[in-house]
Amino acid sequence: MSRLDVVVTGTVQGVGFRPFVHQLASRLGLAGWVRNKSGAVEVALEGSSAALEAFLFSLQSEAPPLARIEDVSSSLSTPQGMSGFCIVESECDSSGEVRITPDSASCADCLQEIDDPHGRRCRYVFTCCTRCGPRLTMVTGAPWDRSRTTMASFPMCESCRVEYEDPSDRRFHAEPIACPRCGPRLVLLGADGVAIEVDPIVETARRLREGAIVAVKGLGGFHLAVDARSQEAVTRLRQRKARDARPFAVMVSDLEAARRIVEISDEEERLLTSAARPIVLIRGVQRGLCESVSRGLADVGLMLPYTPLHHLLLRELDAPLVMTSGNPSEEPIVHLDEDARTRLGDIADAFLMHDRAIRVRCDDSVARIVSGRVLPVRRSRGYAPAPLALARALEVPMLATGGHLKATFALGRASHAILSHHLGDLDELRTWQAYRDAVAHYERLFEIEPRLIVHDAHPDYASTRYALERAQAEQIPTLAVQHHRAHIASCMTEHGLDGNVIGVAFDGAGYGDDGTLWGGEVFAGGYGSLEREAHLRSLALPGGERAMREPWRMAIAFLLDAGLPLDGVAAPSTRARETVVQMIERGIHSPRTSSMGRLFDAVSALCGVCTENSYEGQAATELETLAVQCDAAAAYGFRIDEPPSGPRTIDARPLVAELVSDLARGRDRATVARRFHESVAAMVVECCERIRATRGFERVVLSGGVFMNALLLQLVITALRERAFVVFSHERVPPNDGGLCLGQLAIASALFSEPSSTHGEQ
Ligand code: ZN
Ligand code: ZN
Ligand code: FE
Repeated sequence: MSRLDVVVTGTVQGVGFRPFVHQLASRLGLAGWVRNKSGAVEVALEGSSAALEAFLFSLQSEAPPLARIEDVSSSLSTPQGMSGFCIVESECDSSGEVRITPDSASCADCLQEIDDPHGRRCRYVFTCCTRCGPRLTMVTGAPWDRSRTTMASFPMCESCRVEYEDPSDRRFHAEPIACPRCGPRLVLLGADGVAIEVDPIVETARRLREGAIVAVKGLGGFHLAVDARSQEAVTRLRQRKARDARPFAVMVSDLEAARRIVEISDEEERLLTSAARPIVLIRGVQRGLCESVSRGLADVGLMLPYTPLHHLLLRELDAPLVMTSGNPSEEPIVHLDEDARTRLGDIADAFLMHDRAIRVRCDDSVARIVSGRVLPVRRSRGYAPAPLALARALEVPMLATGGHLKATFALGRASHAILSHHLGDLDELRTWQAYRDAVAHYERLFEIEPRLIVHDAHPDYASTRYALERAQAEQIPTLAVQHHRAHIASCMTEHGLDGNVIGVAFDGAGYGDDGTLWGGEVFAGGYGSLEREAHLRSLALPGGERAMREPWRMAIAFLLDAGLPLDGVAAPSTRARETVVQMIERGIHSPRTSSMGRLFDAVSALCGVCTENSYEGQAATELETLAVQCDAAAAYGFRIDEPPSGPRTIDARPLVAELVSDLARGRDRATVARRFHESVAAMVVECCERIRATRGFERVVLSGGVFMNALLLQLVITALRERAFVVFSHERVPPNDGGLCLGQLAIASALFSEPSSTHGEQ
């Protein structure tokens, strides 16, 4: 007989780990106890050495599906004569790391239960267990315990308590446990806010079939739901959402229903059915949805039900359902009941509500498959706040405040980064408040007190101001990290890369070392030493911010730069065109930019695809949609200039000239769009070849929002691999600014060892 003390770290709380240990120990006839201890699970065992050995083996091989074991440490000692096995109270201390798991889609057992007409949870939409259900969105404190969730106000009934305390039950210590007798309730409210006294799900489905817009309270906020087949209803939703032009996501009851809409690959199927249940952007011919859903784009955003409510509603409705975030146009998603009535009152005809509060507002995640691998577009519900490993350990706990659009932040401690859920565009006041609240909440939850604040180098980002104000108030040192270096470092980090790489960062705009707006950058080096090796030739951004919303302005800038006539530009008026020309020629309110995103905008405008962006990336997305209609085409010409010193310049003027003459000759626009994509891929390859020749690096990292373009990403990956480069693209965090904070932490980890560099450069 021996005693074995075991400490298991990783994602082991809120995933049914203690019940699993209890069952395992009981099965092996071991005595002892198990408990949660901030961030870890502690086990004390007594028994034969064979049983103890079997325990350690099964601990790894049979762990619950949502658990992620990172480390198991154990020590043997003399037994003290324990008998029986029990779960003991959580120990509240602040040592070790706190882990909160992401929300998880309903498990098969729970779904079976709500379908059982004789069971006590028949059609009960808050059914969940240790393996599924809400987590991040309901947690109010740590460690994970019912008293620190939004379920604290629902005292368990006797039957739930029995399950909760039964080590052989799936709900043994399932903190969000509930049933119709003791748990939250569903209610349907009419537009007047009065409850409708019928089966809420049946009635909601009936109203949806009639074309109503229903606000549905979910895990991390409200959705606006409408029948995806009805052009009339979807159009009404767009109008009421302040003419939102973005494509809408669609929820379908199951894979079969998804396949009726679009063809689905094996990888897409895996992503759709994963516990995170993201919206999956799927490319292909779309059937059975009205035109207004994806507005002619090449991709449709599909997702499968992830709560019992979704399952029951979709089955009752038996039709695809638009499920778009419940928010007026640019505002963050609504998550509070009182807000739903006031902020969604003008949009929704009815409200499917419940009385379980949402603590953390959390949008649906978005991802797609490119070249057989996952490409995250938005990392939020289902993924946050799972920790990501850093290639180098941090010396002190840090906060990285991220970017400005698609904002997220990260807390780092030791060798882990915890990335927040998606917060959105910090220009919006409510988003800005939500951002600050979320930083404070995460710091409390994960018990991290930052001793360094890392931020973007852009002085006007709200996240930069937050970092500097807070640093001053709390006397914390700060570190500014250049935007595109952070992009490259984020992609390196998720692949665990250290050492030197070639980094291609293409995006809309970021603040450069020289104060101009960068965005078509190629670097070489490591975390702390990324040098700018090449960039797109810089030109005027006429009107600054306005040029980002109005691609026709960029078309003029590129034509002027190439010395070409402006005939083909669809400016709103001759006068507007003249004004922009003068702004550029006189350098009035026209900062310089080397942004690749702006070249996409210009080409999109030249092709007559999109002259005004009503959402970020619209011009590029629509250009890509056009390009995928053509299977193959030759690249246009371009030049790479090698100055005696300083970075190379990628000169797109020959490209613009050929493209314009293609259009003038009436060449098919899909071919032109395709030739443009091929050209950008060729630029990447040519830059990488030249850098490999001088620096000898063979690993290429691709980052920046432009690489959300699936066609471009695919072309670049294929072309680089053909030239024997080792290519890394994003698979865990988005290439856009939503992944920036991870790169900021990674660069800080490489730099902070030098105490003098509290501000500035790599
Ligand atoms: Zn379950
Ligand atoms: Zn109950
Ligand atoms: Fe960026």
